[in-house]
Amino acid sequence: MTIKHHLSDDLLMAYSAGDLPEAFNLVIATHVSLCDECRARLEAYDALGGAVIEEQVAEMSMGSLEACLARIEGLPQANARAPRRGNGIFPAPLVDYIGGGLDAVKWRPLGLGARQAILKMGDNGASVRLLSIPGGTAMPDHGHSGLEMTLVLQGAFRDEGDRFGRGDIEVADDSLEHTPIAEPGETCICLAATQGPLRFNRLIPRLAQPFFRI
Ligand code: ZN
Ligand code: ZN
Repeated sequence: MTIKHHLSDDLLMAYSAGDLPEAFNLVIATHVSLCDECRARLEAYDALGGAVIEEQVAEMSMGSLEACLARIEGLPQANARAPRRGNGIFPAPLVDYIGGGLDAVKWRPLGLGARQAILKMGDNGASVRLLSIPGGTAMPDHGHSGLEMTLVLQGAFRDEGDRFGRGDIEVADDSLEHTPIAEPGETCICLAATQGPLRFNRLIPRLAQPFFRI
């Protein structure tokens, strides 16, 4: 597996600092568990964040130092970034969320053979779903009202002249109206997080939107 499409430094930094909605955290954690390159960059940002904390600790009074250390003890350790075993095509962070592999997913039909499963999130800043698109089929034509992150878990799709295969991540924002198309052959399964509702361009998907909660 060769990953061509990675996370930007901005996103890795924001993830390391814990600044992103849970939905994006899940997509990033899943990509990082597949991608040595992004994991190395993330560990560098983690270390940088740790150094900033140490500097602040040096300037603290004893009482607040103890409180701060108690907080740090509750944080995940540095080796928490090391990849763990997944289940089939699902890396470990996704297995943790779903509570199993592909057979534990509760799919709902989206029409034309496409299916989705919305994953429950504790916060409402963004939503995250699994999408299953038959080979050769287009994903619904849409624009965005915010950031969208799509990670390929199985198969591949083409979009804007680029190919995205397993492990690749596409980041789109509200300036992009696009139509990703699953490559002929294997069903394309993606994990996609979106900020705010998607805007569909075609009439029928737009009418259907409240039912599918897209
Ligand atoms: Zn990467
Ligand atoms: Zn999109």
